[in-house]
Amino acid sequence: MTRAIKIVALPGDGIGPEVVPIAIAVLRTALAQAGVALEVQEALVGGCAIDQCGEPLPKETLAACRAADAVLLGAVGGPQWEDRSMDQRPERGLLGLRSNLELFANLRPALLFPPLAEASSLKPELVSGLDILIVRELTGGIYFGEPRGVFFENNERVGVNTYRYAEHEIERIARLAFNLAGKRQGRLCSVDKANVLEVTDLWREVVSGLAGEFPQVALSHMYVDNAGMQLVRAPKQFDVIVTGNLFGDILSDVAAMLTGSLGMLPSASLAADGLGLYEPVHGSAPDIAGQDAANPLATVLSTAMMCRYSLNLPAVAARIEGAVDAVLQRGLRTADIVGSGHPHGIERVGTKAMGEALLAEIGSGTEGAAS
Ligand code: NAD
Repeated sequence: MTRAIKIVALPGDGIGPEVVPIAIAVLRTALAQAGVALEVQEALVGGCAIDQCGEPLPKETLAACRAADAVLLGAVGGPQWEDRSMDQRPERGLLGLRSNLELFANLRPALLFPPLAEASSLKPELVSGLDILIVRELTGGIYFGEPRGVFFENNERVGVNTYRYAEHEIERIARLAFNLAGKRQGRLCSVDKANVLEVTDLWREVVSGLAGEFPQVALSHMYVDNAGMQLVRAPKQFDVIVTGNLFGDILSDVAAMLTGSLGMLPSASLAADGLGLYEPVHGSAPDIAGQDAANPLATVLSTAMMCRYSLNLPAVAARIEGAVDAVLQRGLRTADIVGSGHPHGIERVGTKAMGEALLAEIGSGTEGAAS
């Protein structure tokens, strides 16, 4: 081994502790084949951290994340913590990680694995070969703008939020999106509402101003209402979409559903210094936790994103994605992606069996996850 990677694993709550060890085992095996050793430090976040340390994001967890090459999170939350005050909820742990680690960019791919074309809500011909990357600004925009709140004015309540972006925030996310588009098909679509909102007029101006630096990328602009429509009309026209926090929140969920199940969707949140938090899009799924029913593929695919965006190991990422594709091609399905009826060649499996199949596919047998 010539190189060692240090990651922090935050399994969290619900199905998190079921899917994270599988993803780590797959990552460890794929890295070992590339001559890279993996060191994993496990830490607490969310409900389990509240139970053991009295707070959703212990200082030790934050310090460990800051010292790591990358962070892998399962999920947080569950009904047992729902009656707590807002700042004592498990979800605060996740929000605290995002803000403290300054994770300004959220990357959500919508990638359709050919064997799952039937699971999409669109016709297979519209989505086969679909490969979109949505880049969402995560730390600014209307979710954070001040003033905000509910105020009394003229004897009634008025709700206020402020949609605000500074030039440097737009430039930072746009530059990242241009770079990503340059490594893919070279098409970047910036989504705004520049016909109505001055803040997104500035957004469009700043994004356009960068285009000259990236001659290999074709930049286009689209209003958000049209983008929503185009995503369900002809999604394959997109390569990379870059947009603000609010529009990105909505469009990434629309794009996600084009590919089928929540159990298949990975994500990355990146900081300017290269640190990344990788996590499945789904939550802690308390309804199926502990039943060996969770689909581990979203978390496994999150480790592929980690290899691509934080570890600079694109070949390892491709190997992990290839293993996922192969087990799906062989007909293995967890309950969430099994579909209706009993199609020939489809085998329903549990979380552990899916993990074992992935490890066998990647070529190593069943190596353990702990370290
Ligand atoms: P959820 O994503 O946990 O579950 C929604 C539905 O999808 C459930 O029926 C669940 O069984 C199913 N599902 C989710 N992931 C699956 C997987 N990998 N395999 C198979 N089926 C899967 O969303 P929810 O039910 O709204 O939230 C449950 C808890 O998770 C709440 O406490 C919520 O706050 C939390 N949550 C956390 C995150 C996060 O940690 N990033 C995200 C969303 C929700």
